[in-house]
Amino acid sequence: MIFYSTGACGISVRMGQDEEIVSGLRRMLGEQRVLTSKVDIIPYCSDYFHRDSFSTLGSWPLCAVLPETTEEVSEIVKLAAKNRTPIVPRGGGSNQVGGVMPVDRSIVISTSRMNKVIEIDSLNMMVTAQPGVTLKEIDEILDSFGLTLAQEQGSYKVANLGGAISTNGFSLRHNRYRDIGENVIALEVVLGDGRILRTGRKVCSNSSGYPLHKIFVGAEGTLGIITEVTLSVMPKPERELAVLATFTDWDSAQRTAWKFIDSGINYAGGFAIESMREEFGKKIPVVLVGLEGTKEEVEVQEKIVRRMLEESGGEIQDSDLAWSYWRLQRTFWCGAVDDDTNGDDLVAAMPLQYYDEARERMERDVYPKYGIQSNPDDFKVVLIGRRPLVAFNFVYKMNEISYEQLKEMFGEMMAIVSEYGGVGPGCHAVGELLKDFISMEHDKTRLAVMRGLKKVFDPYDIMNPGKKFVP
Ligand SMILES: Cc1cc2nc3c(=O)[nH]c(=O)nc-3n(C[C@H](O)[C@H](O)[C@H](O)COP(=O)(O)OP(=O)(O)OC[C@H]3O[C@@H](n4cnc5c(N)ncnc54)[C@H](O)[C@@H]3O)c2cc1C
Repeated sequence: MIFYSTGACGISVRMGQDEEIVSGLRRMLGEQRVLTSKVDIIPYCSDYFHRDSFSTLGSWPLCAVLPETTEEVSEIVKLAAKNRTPIVPRGGGSNQVGGVMPVDRSIVISTSRMNKVIEIDSLNMMVTAQPGVTLKEIDEILDSFGLTLAQEQGSYKVANLGGAISTNGFSLRHNRYRDIGENVIALEVVLGDGRILRTGRKVCSNSSGYPLHKIFVGAEGTLGIITEVTLSVMPKPERELAVLATFTDWDSAQRTAWKFIDSGINYAGGFAIESMREEFGKKIPVVLVGLEGTKEEVEVQEKIVRRMLEESGGEIQDSDLAWSYWRLQRTFWCGAVDDDTNGDDLVAAMPLQYYDEARERMERDVYPKYGIQSNPDDFKVVLIGRRPLVAFNFVYKMNEISYEQLKEMFGEMMAIVSEYGGVGPGCHAVGELLKDFISMEHDKTRLAVMRGLKKVFDPYDIMNPGKKFVP
């Protein structure tokens, strides 16, 4: 069964064209890997954002397809380009900004069957894999080689390599292991006209040609579909532990966390948080630092970290508590808070000294207008490392706020972050939800260059249209 929009643009012509596209796809992939029935394509209509395309945007995809090879992806895109049919690349579907919400009559290309590890090169410390391998799976496979990618995002179990690269994913352990974007050595990408681009050779250092792989980091599938990734990997740690200290006030906790940023210690990651978790029994500011490496390295680091925390007025807590909290924070895939309450956030990159002021403005001027509250579990969060981020966490009842209101609210939050020189989506990307507000963060020239680049990679404007920025 095929779904059609009832737009005024000659439905009979489109029906015929759509049937031809579906038949063409079936000839390429077989019946099983082209999904068109409602029950089959509903799961491809939404992401973790909890809103689906049909009720939010009034759009249904034409079909969802499950290719297994680069050549298949290329043939699908060529067919789509010929018919000017939009393509929506989909990885694990865990993004929070409507990035995989299909536009009408689109082809959703799921990379879930492109899940093979192609090569592990221990000498040159790199791994090559298809994009559908999850962040957790790649670490499990690398483990027996004594290696790790360590991109432990909160969505570690479901987010996959292609999706994490396309959103410029942030991992709590990024200070030691770098972000996935920084670890990209080379990519293979099917461009918007079906051509297969290899961005460069598999070498860790390269000053030959333009660094084309970088343009696909955070591109949200708007320039092409990543079909193969080569990433640099690190030795897996011999020892891991965490040090946690409680503080009497948020200001001391936050300032202590800042001190780690330029401390020169190669900690895995860390954060200051004021939360109301059952571990502490009350609302309390804490600083948590994760340490990894050789046994000796960790031993020395632990001493320095403890000393820094104590000298700043922190009270060091039990090491088991520290470890369990750190493990939980690293990979907290949990779904919604409860049936109708949704926890969401704006994770922003901004000058850290303005975080409190910005958050207070949001709590005073923005949230009440929309009936939204700060998340009682995590009021204040500053993530430290090479890529410091701050989080504005909130909870809301799904049935009490419309999509348009939610969008408007995110716009107001981004405007506040932007006033302080920051960027709203510090990770998580733009998707459908934030695209209307991106011009706050980019001047006209930058936007024009970005649009020009999109034309080069996606000449027919079919790659994930309606996401990232307004055309
Ligand atoms: C509970 C939870 C915790 C999270 N924690 C974190 C976190 O700690 N850090 C963080 O950065 N994010 C986090 N996220 C957000 C989300 O998981 C990440 O953005 C994730 O990297 C998306 O990966 P995915 O495979 O699910 O991609 P999808 O959601 O499937 O796609 C994301 C975007 O990438 C595009 N895309 C997917 N695959 C490809 C491909 N092969 N080629 C081109 N484009 C592609 C899609 O079109 C879309 O625009 C979290 C989300 C949840 C729900």
